[in-house]
Amino acid sequence: MVPSWAGRCTKGPSVIPELPEVETVRRELASWLPGRTVLEAERMDAPAGPKYAGLERLPGQRIEAVQRRGKFLLLPLVHMPADARRAQGGSARQDGHSEAKGDELVVHLGMTGVVRRTPPPGHLRVRLRLSGPAPSDLYFQDVRRFGRFTVVPAGDYRHLPTLAALGPDALDPAFTTEGFRRALARSGVAIKTLLLSQRVVAGVGNIYADEALWRVGVHPLRPARQLRRAQVVALHGALLEVLEASLALQGTTLYDYRTVNGEVGAFLQELAVYGHAGEPCRRCGTRLERLVVGQRGTHVCPRCQPAPRRASRRVTRRAPRRTRRAA
Ligand SMILES: [Zn+2]
Repeated sequence: MVPSWAGRCTKGPSVIPELPEVETVRRELASWLPGRTVLEAERMDAPAGPKYAGLERLPGQRIEAVQRRGKFLLLPLVHMPADARRAQGGSARQDGHSEAKGDELVVHLGMTGVVRRTPPPGHLRVRLRLSGPAPSDLYFQDVRRFGRFTVVPAGDYRHLPTLAALGPDALDPAFTTEGFRRALARSGVAIKTLLLSQRVVAGVGNIYADEALWRVGVHPLRPARQLRRAQVVALHGALLEVLEASLALQGTTLYDYRTVNGEVGAFLQELAVYGHAGEPCRRCGTRLERLVVGQRGTHVCPRCQPAPRRASRRVTRRAPRRTRRAA
């Protein structure tokens, strides 16, 4: 069932595109961007400041690939000599010309960022003119200005602390159950808060954290280190399952997210808990509840996901008393 508030307008409580949405965009861009050289970079209605820094460095650099880490799109670039650019009507690599290591274009969709080949109406921040058999354009639109379209020296994320601190991408083989278990065992923060931090696994946001935790019957407020080994293994599997299932449907469109071709993601129909507060749990029929965890709206089944016992909090409160007694 689709939540009644979904897809209404662009002014609602927007959600951040997560791994399935950003990966959908990456796959579309990867099919036509690599090998194209930026001929012009036009700053349109882009706010001043670091989110659109370095655009002037783009012309003359060739896009080598379209990669993704978590919710970031990373486009490594190579400087093209001017004579090669003049000769390059097409997108093929020009042999015999020396190429210098270039910069990296970092794109984050924020809440409302959209990348398109044809200009969507309004709120356009950047236009790139690209070489190719038929020269083409790339537009970055961002209604609410939380997005980013930044050029940095390759791999230099000093001014991008979230990117610099990212854990392994959820779809990377480096995201192992054992690594996940070790990271959780080190942390006393609520499991959902830890997932959203991107430091343990990159790409999981509010929607897929809620869905995965419901699938394995773990309450979002449960301290990470309290998860039993079997729960950690199940949660690792559930995260991969829900992300891959959503990716197969091009992600979830609640409001603004669109694919490069302007299509909506169809996973909205599959959401079991996110946005369904007040409705019966699909598994047990109990009314789903909405609570706030780390300032994010969170959806749980109070029966399938038992809240952590107060006893665990009492233990925490008792600790200073023991210290006093020892002193
Ligand atoms: Zn339930």
